[in-house]
Amino acid sequence: MTERIGTTCVQGGYRPGDAQPRQIPIYQSTTWKYDTSEHMGKLFDLEESGYFYTRLQNPTNDYVAAKICELEGGTAAMLTSSGQAANFYAMFNIAECGDHIVASSAIYGGTYNLLAVTMKRMGIESTFVSPDCTPEELDAAFRPNTKAVFGETIANPALAVLDIEKFAEAAHAHGVPLIVDNTFPTPVNCRPFEWGADIVTHSTTKYMDGHGAGVGGCIVDSGKFDWMAHADKFPGLTTPDESYHGVTYAERFGNEGAFITKATAQLMRDFGSIQSPQNAFLLNMGLESLHVRMAQHCKNGQAVAEFLSNHPKVAWVRFPGLEGDAYHDLAQKYLPEGGCGVVSFGVAGGRPAAEKFMAALKLAQIATHVADARTCCLHPASSTHRQMNDDELAAAGISADLVRMSCGIESTEDLIADIAQALETV
Ligand SMILES: *Cc1c(COP(=O)(O)O)cnc(C)c1O
Repeated sequence: MTERIGTTCVQGGYRPGDAQPRQIPIYQSTTWKYDTSEHMGKLFDLEESGYFYTRLQNPTNDYVAAKICELEGGTAAMLTSSGQAANFYAMFNIAECGDHIVASSAIYGGTYNLLAVTMKRMGIESTFVSPDCTPEELDAAFRPNTKAVFGETIANPALAVLDIEKFAEAAHAHGVPLIVDNTFPTPVNCRPFEWGADIVTHSTTKYMDGHGAGVGGCIVDSGKFDWMAHADKFPGLTTPDESYHGVTYAERFGNEGAFITKATAQLMRDFGSIQSPQNAFLLNMGLESLHVRMAQHCKNGQAVAEFLSNHPKVAWVRFPGLEGDAYHDLAQKYLPEGGCGVVSFGVAGGRPAAEKFMAALKLAQIATHVADARTCCLHPASSTHRQMNDDELAAAGISADLVRMSCGIESTEDLIADIAQALETV
């Protein structure tokens, strides 16, 4: 039976047997005990699967990762402590000092910083390309040492929609995988693997958790990228790992399991950015209603975007679901059911008007957070993106007057009334 996405949201990942707990148990244990050292040794050698220490694996986390894996249509997945950790692990798993990454310039500020500053310091360079670049411009960004292409399905906060097929084709023509951060649409609205992406990442902190309760991340592998066919580019997956008993991940675990096994056995072992089982439990509670919440987030986003676009005190509105939006065609293709509840716009009168508007809001609250059940809003140029200069801001698709409104799941009429009264004060 092929399940619909809503059923997987509710019941995926954990399927209890007879007389087992209906809800996912929280394994609040750092460690597992074994009767013999030999048995535990087999786990260390990755000869048997099983649990021994929560920094590497925990059953609660694995149940929740398995649900997200099913939602995305992948073959393996792992949770991480944050979206930042998920993106770093996904890229560092295949790129090392001396390597290069091609990334869309319209990405989350934290990810931009990770690539442009921190990973650069580690010897991994990035070339940023406009999400709207031509195939020729995209092709020209590659170098012989390029190891991955990175983009966001819907960019936070620029709301550019990634042409996943265009980026996937370029990546595959150069023998490297496409990594897509699918945080904003979630698999309810877009499954990037269906369009050619190879690895998907998430900040589960956003819609997946949905209640502002826990920071978390996830990496999902499609199992489709053929590492051995590009063995010279990915020695970490295709030659023995001397730090892990000489295992060759692509040989032992195949295309379905190699990427996540390496990221767990190597990166999680050494960096330790695990999600706590408590947070994984909370994340699963969010996932159970994800499909229901996403529909209301999208409905509110659409209604707010339409209201704003007809308002004389609003200079411009960006929402891919809005007719006439620069990304409307791509949204129709990749996000036919709706994208997310985030709307960006400029209050006429620029920076001071935007600040006055924000202060007058009563229901919508100023928070760095997005994708929460409660509506929140932010002025990126003076907060999350303040480390960027105006040129860098422009390249990331953010103007100084941009207000990002993340529509929650409140009643639509109340949200619009709040925005209307706040605009009156400007
Ligand atoms: C928030 C966010 C991140 C970072 O996630 P954290 O959970 O805050 O570490 C990465 N990518 C996107 C698209 C995000 O919105």
